Amino acid sequence: MRKPVPGIAAMSLSEFDIIEQFFRRPPRRNDVVLGIGDDAALLEVPQGQLLVSAVDTLVAGRHFPPQADPFDIGYKSLAVNLSDLAAMGAMPAWATLALTLPQATDDWLEAFAGGFFGLAREHGVELVGGDTTRGPLSVSVQLQGFVEPQRVLRRAGARPGQAILVSGTPGDAAWALKQWQAGQAVDPLLLQRLNRPQPRVALGRSLGGVATAAIDVSDGLLADLGHLLAASGCAATLWIERLPRSAALAVHAFDDTLAYQLGGGDDYELCFTVDFSRLDEVAELARQAGTTVTEIGRVEEGTGIRCLHEDGRRYRPERVGFDHFGPQEAP
Ligand code: ADP
Ligand code: MG
Repeated sequence: MRKPVPGIAAMSLSEFDIIEQFFRRPPRRNDVVLGIGDDAALLEVPQGQLLVSAVDTLVAGRHFPPQADPFDIGYKSLAVNLSDLAAMGAMPAWATLALTLPQATDDWLEAFAGGFFGLAREHGVELVGGDTTRGPLSVSVQLQGFVEPQRVLRRAGARPGQAILVSGTPGDAAWALKQWQAGQAVDPLLLQRLNRPQPRVALGRSLGGVATAAIDVSDGLLADLGHLLAASGCAATLWIERLPRSAALAVHAFDDTLAYQLGGGDDYELCFTVDFSRLDEVAELARQAGTTVTEIGRVEEGTGIRCLHEDGRRYRPERVGFDHFGPQEAP
């Protein structure tokens, strides 16, 4: 079992040591037939449910600064995937972790594992495998879970006349990133929203069979709502004064924060559509899930998103969202 591994032998800890010391934990789920330690994991999907699978990669210098707190990196690498499963209406279950590290230090790994497993525990997720290699810092987490076929939430399914809602307060994370990049003091609450986003798993679960379409907001509200609408073959009207603003953002001028609320990234909130007749029901589900939801617009016939002021004036946003292959600067 303990064999030298090309490319990793020069690390202070061997690959085997890293896995044993930081990633192999006592089993916590009885649907894991075989976890870390063999060539692959064996997992039991409950009968009658669909397996849901998502993967997201965080690259140093692109998704986080190389010197970022390893606890936050571990936390966020799982959080972004939990958010994807939430947007499908799924129950998270099993994760695998592909970790590429320039060097392996105890302190870094300890903190990284702390962030990862803290969130994993909250959501009943077990780490069942992975891969550890040497190279430029990059973290790839694959998350699997399951969902009852009748509770699946997709991007397609919105229909004209339905209400558009969003959870939480989009824009906080992007505002924090902007302040941080400008070398300004960052409000701790906003920094928390950037570094430790709360994936809306409970809300996503309770919206299954209720919402008609859903997406998680990772690249900006307009961009992600745009994806939902494209998949549904619909257009939308958004009322910009209705966009929920956190108290921390509300101390700044509306005109300044608006672009971040509409186009910032890294929110990990849910944007979804629902029949108007079910708005009260949704408000109650959100309350039970411990998340605020706000009605921000209406699905229309056609294509595109029309942003309106309360008095009916048109608002034209400058920037639509974050595109990794677009012209924007990396963090
Ligand atoms: P193989 O050479 O067959 O891919 P590895 O030596 O890469 O095996 O991995 C041995 C075991 O440790 C496997 O069960 C694998 O899933 C697990 N593993 C490797 N790296 C990690 C990691 N970073 N986190 C969790 N499990 C890991
Ligand atoms: Mg391997």
